[in-house]
Amino acid sequence: MEEGGVKEVRVFRPKSLGGTLRLYTRNPDSLLYAGGTEILRRVQRGPGLVFAFPQKVIYLGNVQELNRISRSQRHLDIGSALDLSRILKLGRNVLPPVLFEPLSGIATPAVRNLATLGGNICVRSCRGDSLPALSVIDAQVELRTAGSTRWTTVESFLNQRGRPQLRPGEILTRIRVPLEEWDFALFRKVGGRQRLGRSTLSFAGVARFPKGSIEVLHFCLGGLKTPVLRVPGLESRLKNASIPVSTKLIDSLLADLDAALGNEVEDSPEGRYRKATALRLFRWFMEKVNSRSLEML
Ligand SMILES: Cc1cc2nc3c(=O)[nH]c(=O)nc-3n(C[C@H](O)[C@H](O)[C@H](O)COP(=O)(O)OP(=O)(O)OC[C@H]3O[C@@H](n4cnc5c(N)ncnc54)[C@H](O)[C@@H]3O)c2cc1C
Repeated sequence: MEEGGVKEVRVFRPKSLGGTLRLYTRNPDSLLYAGGTEILRRVQRGPGLVFAFPQKVIYLGNVQELNRISRSQRHLDIGSALDLSRILKLGRNVLPPVLFEPLSGIATPAVRNLATLGGNICVRSCRGDSLPALSVIDAQVELRTAGSTRWTTVESFLNQRGRPQLRPGEILTRIRVPLEEWDFALFRKVGGRQRLGRSTLSFAGVARFPKGSIEVLHFCLGGLKTPVLRVPGLESRLKNASIPVSTKLIDSLLADLDAALGNEVEDSPEGRYRKATALRLFRWFMEKVNSRSLEML
């Protein structure tokens, strides 16, 4: 219904997951509203940009199944509509530190009381700060429609342009966070604390090195052309490497990373700066891994 140019918005507030999925199948043009901190889109109208208001909204905040956390020995299942403050209340001892860091740095406490983890993963700009951390710990996301369930990693969930690959009627329902122990974990965001800014770059890395060599090391860069960039070839070169990792090996890995980043930045002063920053972050991570390994002796 339209009155004086203002469209009426229908807001659905389902309580059960089954009801939500059926509602979304019947109304696939609805906007899913979780915390609502990143839903408004601006579209070109005439000479200027205006906010595009959806006509139908499905509010996820009342859906019980999306608002709970369950914990087993091996993983945490976090409902997609849980706000970041409630997730952070789990504390650093339960939540993997590499994930705690980015979540606690998002916006302000007031925004974190609204913003959800599901929203951070599905946000259209695909620069959510949780993504590199979720990638390195091999978290999985559950995606459901009224008639199907699938699980995938965050890298596979985003396409090359960084858009979430949601099928019609599909909702991100849970995030499965493995509770593995890591000997060292690091998250850093550089380039300002802007919200989902184009100029920010983030790095997440985890490593386990129990007996004098690297058992597993994962790292991920966020904010480049590939929104969640893993370089599996580099990670596997480090498997079983003696620790501390030699300077020669680190230099050789940096040369490979330099090549892998070739198409990930614009050929401009800013692009070159971002590439140099990414390389510095990787070197710094490796140096920290080495220092930690010496502390553990
Ligand atoms: C002041 C401010 C500062 C910010 N700073 C940061 C920052 O530093 N780092 C950062 O990462 N983000 C930042 N953000 C962005 C934003 O708050 C987060 O990304 C937030 O986690 C989005 O969650 P939400 O619940 O509010 O999502 P919503 O706004 O509700 O939704 C975002 C998008 O995801 C879709 N969606 C939401 N939930 C689901 C679901 N379960 N299934 C399918 N689709 C879904 C929605 O339809 C919408 O398209 C900031 C925002 C503000 C307002």
